Amino acid sequence: MSEYLFDPAPQPTIEVQGTEALYPIHRIFCVGRNYEAHAREMGTEVDREAPFYFTKSAHAALPGGATLSYPPGTADLHHEMELAVALGETVFRANRVQSVQAVFGYGCALDMTRRDLQAKAKEKRRPWDLGKDFEGAVVLAPLTRAGEWDPVVSQAIRLKVNGEMRQDATLDQMIHNVAAIISDLSQYYHLRAGDVILTGTPAGVGAVKAGDQLVGQIDGLEPVRLTLGAAV
Ligand code: MN
Repeated sequence: MSEYLFDPAPQPTIEVQGTEALYPIHRIFCVGRNYEAHAREMGTEVDREAPFYFTKSAHAALPGGATLSYPPGTADLHHEMELAVALGETVFRANRVQSVQAVFGYGCALDMTRRDLQAKAKEKRRPWDLGKDFEGAVVLAPLTRAGEWDPVVSQAIRLKVNGEMRQDATLDQMIHNVAAIISDLSQYYHLRAGDVILTGTPAGVGAVKAGDQLVGQIDGLEPVRLTLGAAV
């Protein structure tokens, strides 16, 4: 067996309700503009033909309940509350039925965003990485297994900051549903167990500051919590 030159970074994981075993994260895909009212508040339009994606490093993930130091290089850190879908099987060029069968579980997630850097990237037609993929940019609450919970009805998706409601919508407002997203993404990647997909945020995104307490909820799932710390 080969030796490593230095210690590899620890395997990023998500807790799972009802078991001590951890879900090892492989990749994190995020859907953009999947709720019409959010697309409108960003001054853009949804694409009903197909979803579009950006990615975040699995190593950017934080567990729910963590404290995130206010990240460097931004003066406009935003919250985006989202439903996360965690795959438990290989999916490639799958139809919608096969796609849903590959889901391991669901969870509440925060797609934290350096909005000022994202806006600059959009303006210059550059990639979104600096705005979207930074340390601690994804917060993942414990997963609930598929079968125990399924996104088939109009569960509420909400985010409160310091107890005040900022985002309040229902999952059936998604333009592309979970099955459609997985099926579409599987046309481009050999998806596998460990791949996590954030399904987009409803309207009401906004800035957070040091000291803020965020609580994101989806009916029937474990809430995601985040405390904002001072910049370091
Ligand atoms: Mn998002």
